[in-house]
Amino acid sequence: MSSDGVDVVVVGSGPNGLAAALTMARAGLSVHVIDGAGTPGGGCRTEELTLPGFWHDVCSAVHPLASASPFFAGTDLAAFGVRLLTPKVAFAQPLDGGRAVAATGSVDETAAELGPDARTYRRLVGPLAQDLPLILPTVLGPLGRTLPAHPLAMARFGAEGLLPASVLARRFRGDEAKSLLAGAAAHTMLPLSKPLTSSFGLLFLMIAHSVGWPFVEGGSARLTDALVTELTSLGGRMETGRWVTSLRDLPKARAVLLDVTPRQFVALAGDRLPARSRRALQRFRYGPGVCKVDWALSGPVPWQAPACREAGTVHVGGTFAEVAASEADVAAGRHPERPFCLIAQAGVVDPSRAPAGQQTLWGYCHVPRGSDVDMSARIEAQIERFAPGFRDLILARSVRTATEMERYNPNYVGGDISGGASTLWQTVLRPTPRWNPYRTALPGVYLCSASTPPGGGVHGMCGAWAARTALADLGARHRP
Ligand SMILES: Cc1cc2nc3c(=O)[nH]c(=O)nc-3n(C[C@H](O)[C@H](O)[C@H](O)COP(=O)(O)OP(=O)(O)OC[C@H]3O[C@@H](n4cnc5c(N)ncnc54)[C@H](O)[C@@H]3O)c2cc1C
Repeated sequence: MSSDGVDVVVVGSGPNGLAAALTMARAGLSVHVIDGAGTPGGGCRTEELTLPGFWHDVCSAVHPLASASPFFAGTDLAAFGVRLLTPKVAFAQPLDGGRAVAATGSVDETAAELGPDARTYRRLVGPLAQDLPLILPTVLGPLGRTLPAHPLAMARFGAEGLLPASVLARRFRGDEAKSLLAGAAAHTMLPLSKPLTSSFGLLFLMIAHSVGWPFVEGGSARLTDALVTELTSLGGRMETGRWVTSLRDLPKARAVLLDVTPRQFVALAGDRLPARSRRALQRFRYGPGVCKVDWALSGPVPWQAPACREAGTVHVGGTFAEVAASEADVAAGRHPERPFCLIAQAGVVDPSRAPAGQQTLWGYCHVPRGSDVDMSARIEAQIERFAPGFRDLILARSVRTATEMERYNPNYVGGDISGGASTLWQTVLRPTPRWNPYRTALPGVYLCSASTPPGGGVHGMCGAWAARTALADLGARHRP
């Protein structure tokens, strides 16, 4: 420990800040985490946003990435009472006429419902899903900075994943398979004509066929609680309600890890940052925003298609062409009339989220960055299209526009929930083209947020990798 401080200060207690803090604490260092919000967790919090007894995930709700993450695999979540509940149908996408397509169970089970595309789906997704354990360490690592551990498997994934989803979709003939890919690929928040959009789509399908798309029983905040409990049990300190405005205000420490995005880092560092680094960080690009809506419902959503009633996540937006048009609108700065919506119904597996017989519903759609448009009416119209009678079930709703998302958490710049645009360049070289993406120009100061590799999502790997760099610089040993 430094004579008048701690070994490590972490600013921000999102999943990456906490993963960084725990990795340092597990190595025997003293750790102090500071967060400006009133509760820890960043994008991993659960609150009664609408009515008493209705527990809503304020940000993340669905956890395929936590399930696949080596950091969480190395954390004894069960010992802290965390249970992951995995719906039978990972995700479904309704189509007009009461039809739907779904990622259910194994590759074969899903393929069986894809009619003329069954064989193509099996041949495309089957080998990749088998390779998932070989691919994950690379895609959840400092991509672009290390050689893949399994180059052949990674090359097979890269050959398909680099394609725009609009190109990969041409291999399918029916609306069902094309739409399934569209819904998964649209998580990139990029137009589906952009390179690399297939990689997200395929990865989410591969995870659906292995660990599934689970919820955390009781809400995502339980994950945060587990990490904070382990941290404090190791002697770490979690301080909330303290916004850091300058690095000069931090307690003295041997290493400082910042769970913030490049724009905030530039502001925190002030004139300490060399002009060249500042300019590189200012070139970092943010993606579109989201408008988030949470509903308290008197009962389950009356989806016409049975698969949607069993799905944890429902991608609402219709066919591939409709989803692609919605994402293209957003990229062009327009608010789509019929937005592509990500809907999650935790009640499918977790009755603890709402009073008996009632439900919470979670959803968002993509909007131009910095938007202050309330999209709830358009999102509800899309759900009603595939679930007539849905509107009659609404007891209460809570809406956060993209600008309000940033007010809630300054890491959501303009409402961007991924810590930066997932372009090809920024997927490989985020946040700036340095050899080690976690080190900054300031000795002993590291970035550990979703703006570093491997990017957005609740997996903790940005924090874990940043902490490993800091440990190496301090000459301390990483304890996996
Ligand atoms: C609506 C929404 C839905 C999402 N859905 C999913 C999902 O279903 N599954 C999934 O895997 N991911 C999802 N995500 C993304 C996921 O939540 C984020 O990628 C993840 O939380 C990023 O973690 P982080 O630690 O990098 O940053 P964050 O979780 O954003 O945490 C940053 C923390 O730093 C604090 N902070 C920032 N600046 C300062 C400062 N100056 N001083 C003090 N504290 C500061 C903030 O208060 C915050 O607590 C969603 C996000 C949103 C917003």
